[in-house]
Amino acid sequence: MTDVLVLVDHDHGEPRKVSRQLLSAAREVCGGPVHAVVLGAGARDSAERLGAHGVTTVYTWDAEEADRYVTETRTAALCAAIERSGARVVLFPADPFLTDVAARAAVRLGAGIITDAVGLERDGDAVVATKAIFGGEMTSRCTVRGERPELVGVKANAFDASESGGAAPELVELDVPLPGQAARAEVVEVVEEAGGERPEMTEATIIVAGGRGLGEADGFGLVERLADSLGGAVGASRAATDAGWYPHQHQIGQTGKTVAPQLYVGLGISGAIQHRAGMQTSQTIVVVNKDAEAPIFSIADFGVVGDLHAVVPQLVAEIDKRRA
Ligand SMILES: Cc1cc2nc3c(=O)[nH]c(=O)nc-3n(C[C@H](O)[C@H](O)[C@H](O)COP(=O)(O)OP(=O)(O)OC[C@H]3O[C@@H](n4cnc5c(N)ncnc54)[C@H](O)[C@@H]3O)c2cc1C
Repeated sequence: MTDVLVLVDHDHGEPRKVSRQLLSAAREVCGGPVHAVVLGAGARDSAERLGAHGVTTVYTWDAEEADRYVTETRTAALCAAIERSGARVVLFPADPFLTDVAARAAVRLGAGIITDAVGLERDGDAVVATKAIFGGEMTSRCTVRGERPELVGVKANAFDASESGGAAPELVELDVPLPGQAARAEVVEVVEEAGGERPEMTEATIIVAGGRGLGEADGFGLVERLADSLGGAVGASRAATDAGWYPHQHQIGQTGKTVAPQLYVGLGISGAIQHRAGMQTSQTIVVVNKDAEAPIFSIADFGVVGDLHAVVPQLVAEIDKRRA
């Protein structure tokens, strides 16, 4: 039995950064033994690495069906892990896919669910989650009363990931009966996004983002050049993704991804509230904008008022010179 169970997402057996952050949050906020559940091909490899994060027991389902039938099967496996662990609090990464799985599990177990938390604190048996609402203009605090468990989806970068050290966890193989409705949706092909060598946005410590100020799709060549010289990921405003200049999965903001890198560089982005909602907790914010009145300057640590087409090539040349 445990108090807290963390749904760990992984990439071919490597626990993702957001999952490592949730394990830190579980230790800090809930204390006591932390249990984890890891699903899909590579789950066992991932599970063995979790002792370093203070996990004492890992429930795994390293089965091909977990990846082939997506939601239904994972919901069944998550329910099984919650029941086996007896957890009162279940933390999961608040991405759309896992939120779908957790929401279904909550309905099945008659449990309460909170999504998109950016902070957690303990209140007796329950966890109180902080959520940023109205595009980050207000925060709300919410908790689940009544029946346990309480499922809480936590956004990436709400917590720092740290290792606590610990013995190898006990591994418990879940026996998941394939639900009859599992085959309603089957994954028939997986196409890896051609992201090249660049890190994924929510995992990156540096992000260079471009907006409408780039003028055209080709302007993203400048963003990519700066991102590559800094070893960062590429992000975009919604104006840029809606214009088809860059793929939608790179959109930062209220209706895109929430990021909190060590360094965010914004090029030709005005700083609309919906964009800021996705990046304003970045540690250092650097912007280039030709309009000195642009709202993005109000949250910037460093700003250049100027034409990005003149500023960025000089910046890249200077970085490359210092790197040489
Ligand atoms: C419900 C809703 C949800 C939304 N969700 C999101 C979201 O998730 N993410 C998001 O980003 N937006 C979102 N938006 C849209 C948001 O309101 C803004 O329209 C959008 O962020 C603007 O993008 P931008 O800053 O690239 O463009 P603009 O606001 O047009 O700004 C372009 C900036 O570039 C500067 N510029 C122009 N030329 C140059 C140059 N040569 N050199 C330097 N600077 C230059 C200009 O001064 C200007 O400040 C949402 C809107 C709504 C209504």
